[in-house]
Amino acid sequence: MMKKVLLHICCGVCAYSAIKALKDKGFYVEGFFYNPNIEPLDEYIKRKDTAAEVCQISKVSISEGSYSPQQWHDIIDGYKDDIEGGRRCDLCYEMRLRETLRVCQEKKIDFFTTTLTISPYKNSNKIHQIGKKLSDSRFLAVDFKKNDGFKETMRFAKKHNLYRQNYCGCLYNR
Ligand code: SF4
Repeated sequence: MMKKVLLHICCGVCAYSAIKALKDKGFYVEGFFYNPNIEPLDEYIKRKDTAAEVCQISKVSISEGSYSPQQWHDIIDGYKDDIEGGRRCDLCYEMRLRETLRVCQEKKIDFFTTTLTISPYKNSNKIHQIGKKLSDSRFLAVDFKKNDGFKETMRFAKKHNLYRQNYCGCLYNR
């Protein structure tokens, strides 16, 4: 039987080639949009709507986690002056992956992974280490930036005239 994977989606544009790569590997994909790091609210809504549009085009379902920026700030604010890629980002990845794992277990889905590794600005090994630390057996360590994944997703965004953000997500990085 086809194995199922819950894909944490950080933004719509990044989802396209990640969904395609997982489908090419033979997985049944379900999307999960959980990003309490994204501020302000109108930016969050734009990214969520774009993620829903991409999932519709890619014929996969998507659910939304709770939008809880205060919980995110409670965890992150002690590290708000870190550079991008520092401890602040590690905690931000971990928070989002932890919730993805919780939903994955709740829905009895075989694996979970994240679109976060598609960004050329993000260290995929670090993200994989965090995912594996949370669940070695359930985390699928795929590096979506491989095989020109980022370029492919940008071409798709242009073709479909999708919204593309110009910052990672939090206001500490603008
Ligand atoms: S820069 Fe991105 S990954 Fe780092 S804390 Fe901000 S939103 Fe999270």
